[in-house]
This record gives sequence, structure tokens and C-alpha cells, in this order.
Amino acid sequence: MPLPSDFKSCMKRIDINSLVRKNILNLKPYSSARDEFQGEAQVLLDANELPYDTGFNRYPDPRQRELRKAIAELKQVAPEQVFTGNGSDEAIDLLFRIFCIPGEDCVLIPQPTYGMYAVSADTNDIKTLTPPLTTDFDLDVDVILKAVTEKVKMIFLCSPNNPSGNLLSSSQVEKLMDQFEGIVVVDEAYIDFAPSKSWTTQLGSFNNLVILQTLSKAWGLAGLRLGMCFANEAVIRLMDKVKAPYNINQHSQEEALQRLKTGREQKEQWVRKIVNERQNLAAALRDCPGITKVFPSDANFLLVRMNNATGTYMRLVNEGIIVRDRSKVAQCEDCLRITVGTPEENRELMSALQRS
Ligand SMILES: *Cc1c(COP(=O)(O)O)cnc(C)c1O
Repeated sequence: MPLPSDFKSCMKRIDINSLVRKNILNLKPYSSARDEFQGEAQVLLDANELPYDTGFNRYPDPRQRELRKAIAELKQVAPEQVFTGNGSDEAIDLLFRIFCIPGEDCVLIPQPTYGMYAVSADTNDIKTLTPPLTTDFDLDVDVILKAVTEKVKMIFLCSPNNPSGNLLSSSQVEKLMDQFEGIVVVDEAYIDFAPSKSWTTQLGSFNNLVILQTLSKAWGLAGLRLGMCFANEAVIRLMDKVKAPYNINQHSQEEALQRLKTGREQKEQWVRKIVNERQNLAAALRDCPGITKVFPSDANFLLVRMNNATGTYMRLVNEGIIVRDRSKVAQCEDCLRITVGTPEENRELMSALQRS
């Protein structure tokens, strides 16, 4: 029987362990009291906790089992393919610590994108290679693969991309996962606002795929600090091995679980509002004198090119309106990044822009 044409990509299996730092492979993780005993017991004298109830006197579940199970159901992946972290930042840092040898290995981060990947690389003393995205902020795999050396262990992609707002074209992302013999991280912090499906549907096809999502944006829980990471279970096991034992506090676990269980309709409603308002705001900005380009967005913000972006930024600050000045970022010259707010906030922004 002939093989389907996508057979090769379906069978992408890299040797994960060969990419992992030796000290991490050999690491014997800290085993907490709550790791060694889980389950129901009358008398808990194993963790030096205060026995009197304060609501928080017990250590939380180190593996966040209930929360991960709920996330797995929502995202239609296996619980073993889910990691939860103290924001996406924790997952980003863990990936560097697992896969990149300080002072030796490299990470490839197509630019412009979210600054945290490079900061985390620098913190871990990992060299950053920064090939450009195309002029319309898409991925050109041939350019990326030319920059790859054998020291490159990971590639960070952001789709929809921050600060440009666009989804990366899926054929290019897939080609990269297929051809790169290392970890491909796809940060989907803004996926809820995008018209396309998450890459989580491809976890079975690519064991080098790592997906980041967060409750900070569409779910409206930035203050809770809850990042999600989806990957092959071997990668998730490594992340659990290296993370701090109680990385998600009891309150965040309970609150996140509650919101995931009861807040889904509310979240969808917010997303519809923001996407609708994004369209209105983009149209208003395009009509605004001095604005030369409003980039297409699949996220909850708009990248806008204008005459004198920094001057405009300062004038907006004086009116009490804060946007993000991205004009010093390569390929974002003269650009401000504007988060879509409520209709009232967007109207205030527009009248301030028209005054300035
Ligand atoms: C906002 C954002 C995140 C979210 O980070 P958290 O630590 O989960 O709040 C992740 N990636 C990108 C690209 C973002 O813009």
C-alpha cells in the first residue's frame, strides 16, 4: 500500500535524550513529602506543616494533577503532555536549563519577537542567533535553516507573533519541525484570538514540538501567573524533574481550576468582543492622519507604523494613555504596539491620537 504523502512528517521522532544536558539526564530530582505520599490520610506528620487550618497550611500538589487533567481535557491532549508553570516564563527558563549547555550551546530566535526568550537565554549564558523574519513578519525556513549550526538546540517561534500580531504560516512551521533536528518551541500566548487551530493537534506527529500557552491573555488571569506547556511526555517529565517542587501555589491551582471549569463561555465572549473591537480599532487607525500602516493582527493588539512614533508615544503618556513603543526594535522602526482595550478606551485613544 502506498504511504500517505505526509508519512515522513508524521513519523518525526528525534532522540530527545541526546539533546538533553548530561547533568540533567543524570539528575536525581528532589523528592518532596507530597511526592512520596499522595492520597487520603488522617494524620499528616511528614512535611513539617502547621497542623492548624489557615486555608493554606498544607503544601500544594507538586504535580498539579487536577489542574493538568482539566487543561488536558480542554485542550484535548493527554495529561502527561501538560506542564503548568509560574507563567510562561518558567517554562521558557526550564527549556534552556534542560537543553542548552551554558557557554556552549545556541538558541535560534527569529526577529523581531517577544524579548523574554533572549533574556532567558542570556541569563543561562546561551548564545542567541537572530535571523530575520520576512518583511511581513513571516517565517522563511530556508533563511532559518541556513543559520542553524550543530550547537543550536532550540528554535523559538511565536505565533501569533509579538509584536507584529500575525500567525506564522503553518506550512513553514511544519517544514521547520520536520527539518530541524532539535526542539521547536511555538509560543501561542495569543492563539485564542487567532482564526487557526493550535499546534497541539500535531503533538502526536512531532516529538520535537513544544507549545506554550498561558492564562494571562484571553482568560484574563495575568495576575494569577499560570503558564501552560504542551509537549511529548518525555519532555514534560524532564520539565517536572527540573522545576521547583511547589512551583504553582495552592491559590493559583484552585482558582485556575475553577476558571477553566466554569469560565469557558465568559472567555469565548471576551475573545469575540476583542476580535470585533480589533477590527474597529484597525479601521479607525488606518483613517488617522500620520499613521502609515496598521499591520494585520491575529492577536489582541495592533502594530502601527506612523510618523514620529516616539513623539506620539510621549504625547499619549502625557494624556495618561500608555502604549508600547517598539520603534527601537529592528523591523519595527516608527512602530507602536497598541493593545485592544474596551470600546471606550479605544475611543479615548483615537481622540488623543487625532488631537496630537
Ligand atoms: C504575554 C506573553 C506571554 C505570557 O507570559 P506569562 O508569563 O504566561 O504571563 C508569553 N509569550 C508571549 C509572546 C507573550 O506576549
